[in-house]
Amino acid sequence: MLLRNRLLSLNLTSFLSPPSPLPKSASFLFSFNKTIAHSTHKRPESKPDVSASRAAKQPMSERARFAKTVLFVPPGVDPEDVTDEMILPGSNIVVGPYAGHSQIKEVEFVKSSGRAKDCPKDDRPEFAILGRSNVGKSSLINALVRKKEVALTSKKPGKTQLINHFLVNKSWYIVDLPGYGFARASDAARTDWSSFTKGYFLNRDTLVAVLLLIDASVPPQRIDLDCANWLGRNNIPMTFVFTKCDKLKASKGKRPDENIRDFQELIRENYKQHPAWIMTSSVTGLGRDELLLHLSQLRNYWDQ
Ligand code: GDP
Repeated sequence: MLLRNRLLSLNLTSFLSPPSPLPKSASFLFSFNKTIAHSTHKRPESKPDVSASRAAKQPMSERARFAKTVLFVPPGVDPEDVTDEMILPGSNIVVGPYAGHSQIKEVEFVKSSGRAKDCPKDDRPEFAILGRSNVGKSSLINALVRKKEVALTSKKPGKTQLINHFLVNKSWYIVDLPGYGFARASDAARTDWSSFTKGYFLNRDTLVAVLLLIDASVPPQRIDLDCANWLGRNNIPMTFVFTKCDKLKASKGKRPDENIRDFQELIRENYKQHPAWIMTSSVTGLGRDELLLHLSQLRNYWDQ
C-alpha cells in the first residue's frame, strides 16, 4: 500500500494543479510531440472527435497540454475536462464515458491456433496478452479471470507456442500469445516467433489492443523494447501492463517505479500516440480492477 501510494503521488499529484512550467514528475512519463489519437485503432472514423473540434476553436491550456502529453485520454473525453478523479490509480489512464461493466463472470477456452488465419472467425473484440517468458503472464491471466485452469491451459505442453483464445462473458476474447525471449532460444527460434506472431498482429481485424507485459522488477530489457517499438511502428494499439509491482527494491536494483520510468524514457520517441500504461501485481491484486475497467472502455468504444 505504501508503495502504491508513493507511486501514485509521484505520477499523479502533479496533475492536480495545472503545471507551469511542467512539474518534474512529468519528465518521469512520456513527453510526446504529437497529440493523442483518440482511437483504439480499427474504427476511428466511426466516432466524432469532440475534443479535436473543440481544440481547434480554443487555444490549449497548459493543463490540457499536460493531459495530452502524459495521460491516455480515451475517446469521448476532452483533455480540458480531465480531473484527478478520472485517472485510474497506478496508471496514466483516464476513464471516460465508454467505461462500463468490466467484471469477468465466465470464461471458456475456445481454441488454439497455429496461424492467424485459423483464429476464431467472428466479430468479437479481443485483447492479446504478450510478454517475455516469466514476465508473469499466466499469473496475470489467473488474476484477471480468477480461474486457474485458464492460464494452465496455455501452459500445457504443445500450447505454449500457439495462439490461445478464451471467450469472456460470451462477448470478448482474451488471447494468450506465445511468450518470447526464452533465455536459451536461438536467434532462429526468435525469428520464427516473430513471423508467426507478426502475422497475427498485422492481420487480425478484431484486435482492439495488445497488452504488453513488462516486468517492473527488473531494468528495461532489450527484447521488450524491441517488441514495444515494433508494435509502435506498426500502429498496433497497446497498453503497457507493468507486472510484479509489489516487488520491493532488490539489494542493488531499482524500484519498480524507477524501472517503469526508465522503460518509458527509452521508448517514448517511437510513438505517435501516447500508450496507456498501468501497474499491476498478481500477488496483491494491484491494478486488476483498473485494468478490467480500461479494457471495458476500449471494448465498448470498439463495439459501437
Ligand atoms: P509466465 O511465464 O509469463 O506465464 O510467468 P508466470 O505467471 O508463470 O510467473 C513467473 C514467475 O513470476 C512465477 O514465479 C510467479 O510466481 C512470479 N510472479 C508472477 N507475477 C508476479 C507478481 O505480480 N508479483 C511477484 N512478486 N511475483 C510474480
